[in-house]
Amino acid sequence: MFQNSKISTVIISGLLLGLFIPILFTFYFLIDEQKQKYQQRSIKVIIDSATLSIKESLLIDSKEWLDIAVRTALQSEYLYSIKIHKENKTIAFNTKKEYITHKKEVDFKIKQNGKTLANVRLVFNINNINKDTKREQHHLIQILMMQAIISTFIIYFIIKFKILSPIHTLMRQANLISNKKLNKEFKWEQKDEIGKLGRSLDTTREALKHLFIKVEDKASFDSLTNVYNRHGFNAIFQKELRRCARYKHPISLIMFDIDYFKKINDKHGHLVGDKILIQLCEIVNKNIRESDYLIRWGGEEFIVLTPETNLENAIFLAEKIRKVVATTPFDKTISVTVSLAVSQIQENEDDNTILQRVDDHLYEAKNSGRNRVSY
Ligand code: GH3
Ligand code: MG
Ligand code: MG
Repeated sequence: MFQNSKISTVIISGLLLGLFIPILFTFYFLIDEQKQKYQQRSIKVIIDSATLSIKESLLIDSKEWLDIAVRTALQSEYLYSIKIHKENKTIAFNTKKEYITHKKEVDFKIKQNGKTLANVRLVFNINNINKDTKREQHHLIQILMMQAIISTFIIYFIIKFKILSPIHTLMRQANLISNKKLNKEFKWEQKDEIGKLGRSLDTTREALKHLFIKVEDKASFDSLTNVYNRHGFNAIFQKELRRCARYKHPISLIMFDIDYFKKINDKHGHLVGDKILIQLCEIVNKNIRESDYLIRWGGEEFIVLTPETNLENAIFLAEKIRKVVATTPFDKTISVTVSLAVSQIQENEDDNTILQRVDDHLYEAKNSGRNRVSY
């Protein structure tokens, strides 16, 4: 039961069951007992008051008073008839003319100093007594129901504000975290357990956010040369393409590859090859603008992305790189040259077309003798 229900449904059902079942229980078991008690109490009250007035009229021995006492007693709607005997003689009798289905006879003696003054037979109208009992019972049930409803509301609202609403906030918080949306901060003022949980969830979010930034950062850079790698390039490239397209600014791309790097590796060793890659990146970084990006595209193949630069200026920059590389001694003594390809990106061109075009230019530069710029 309640396996797939919301907490609010479970709580409301629990409250209703918990409050109304006891009321039903009261109704079926206690009320019946109460009915008997009420009946007995009513009968006793009438016997007492009838005894009092009848006894008085017997003591003063007045037939007139006795009749008045009998009539007065019969005014009670619980009483159907009264019969008084004295020494086997009826001295007073009165009955109502109505028809009743449920009556009860009660015989008792009226005594004075141990001597019996008269025998009395009262016939009670149980229908009327039960009617009143029922009215009282309904009244009681109404009060109990009212109490149960008010209690349900009060308890539910306390639970709603202290538990249900905070749980919904916790759920939203957890959902955002599981969907990797880590920027929304949740402020928890609540000092209880839910508040503590919310605060630690927010701390987790903050930690995850920093971790993601760190990982993202690590994933975007090449560990050897510390310039952007392909992963980093993809993000930058899309962003810059969109920006230049929106403002109708030119953007160009230079791809370059070290000439005969395999030979350099073979001759000087892989470690020296690594040092050359690092030094090459330092040199290129020094010769490009802050707003340009240097990317390690593959082993010894690089890209310079130059936003706000047309083909002419990009060729100029490529030529500058070529010259500075060719004239710099690497690892103090080694000469290195690079072949470069330049292309300005056209409007609405997709990444693959652009990259294919510079790749073709690079092939040209290699094939036409290396250490040169092709465009
Ligand atoms: P080409 O002028 O046609 O480009 O000749 P190449 O020898 O430069 O080209 P090739 O593709 O034949 O060889 C590239 C070499 O670059 C082979 C590989 O060992 C080397 N290389 C790639 N990544 C690294 C690296 O991280 N460190 C070192 N030391 N060498 C690398
Ligand atoms: Mg090469
Ligand atoms: Mg290569």
